[in-house]
Amino acid sequence: MSFYKKAYLNGKIVPIEEAGVLVSSPTFRYGAAVFEGLGAYWNASQNKKYVLSLEEHCWRLLESMKMIRFEHSYTIETLKSSVLELLKAENYEEDVHILQSAFLEGEGGMTAKSPTGLAVIARGRTRSSGFEDGFSCKISSWTRITDNSMPPRVKCVANYQNGRLAQLEASTDGYDYAILLNQRGKVAEGPGACVMVIRNGTCITPPVTGDILESITRKCLITILEKEMNIPVVEREVDRTELYIADEVLLCGTLYEVTPVVEIDRLPVRDRKPGEITRALQQRYLALARGEDKAYPEWRTEV
Ligand code: PMP
Repeated sequence: MSFYKKAYLNGKIVPIEEAGVLVSSPTFRYGAAVFEGLGAYWNASQNKKYVLSLEEHCWRLLESMKMIRFEHSYTIETLKSSVLELLKAENYEEDVHILQSAFLEGEGGMTAKSPTGLAVIARGRTRSSGFEDGFSCKISSWTRITDNSMPPRVKCVANYQNGRLAQLEASTDGYDYAILLNQRGKVAEGPGACVMVIRNGTCITPPVTGDILESITRKCLITILEKEMNIPVVEREVDRTELYIADEVLLCGTLYEVTPVVEIDRLPVRDRKPGEITRALQQRYLALARGEDKAYPEWRTEV
């Protein structure tokens, strides 16, 4: 039994069993694939489904392909319609997590640049109890990969071995989630989410030059914090010990949305309860994603 039923593969909707990758391909041999994780939100009262930040995700996929030197002829329109075509074929009436990948097919070697395939899959999403209760995080003993060796800005599947090691360590040691420091010893990000800290009414978050993925959720939240909640946001390096004394800490990303962090290295964040700003941000973000709040219509693409 697969969680996935169908796939968009190179212009066609096919049963998931038919959407394989050859073991001889550069994707299989070298991890020569880039991807996007997107969210679609079901609004039951409107009977509508919206993809959040579709255009931004498709641009980021194009940028990942550029940085990793894939040759292809995909346009932003093709990338957008690949997601929408699959969602129309699947017909989910729930929140959905989508995976869109561009990958090297064929039998090329390490330096192959094409042919570049395009695949999209989607499944209903579940939320962990951490979404409500908050995560306990461990500062990883693994260091975040860095821009001049394995750039985190490129959303390449091979990069995720770094986060995988960190998450395996955190889970084995009894924590919910890992947070990695970069090579300068400053807070970078989690295996699949960025980090935000609230101190004295200000939100502080590591800069895009801090060995992080340029998160689309982070960008949306900065807008909500500044424009809707009147909370200043500062993008600067963050020390590990600032997490220990923060008023609130949260993780953000397409999958984790806005997830409170209530404990770090077994030290409580304040009273070990999700903070007020984090809660308000969670509600605001979900209301916008579902189109219950009609502000920022450009963030939502109706399926
Ligand atoms: N960092 C990493 C390493 C990620 O994989 C993700 C998820 N894509 C994020 C941050 C959050 O990015 P986004 O908000 O664009 O989903």
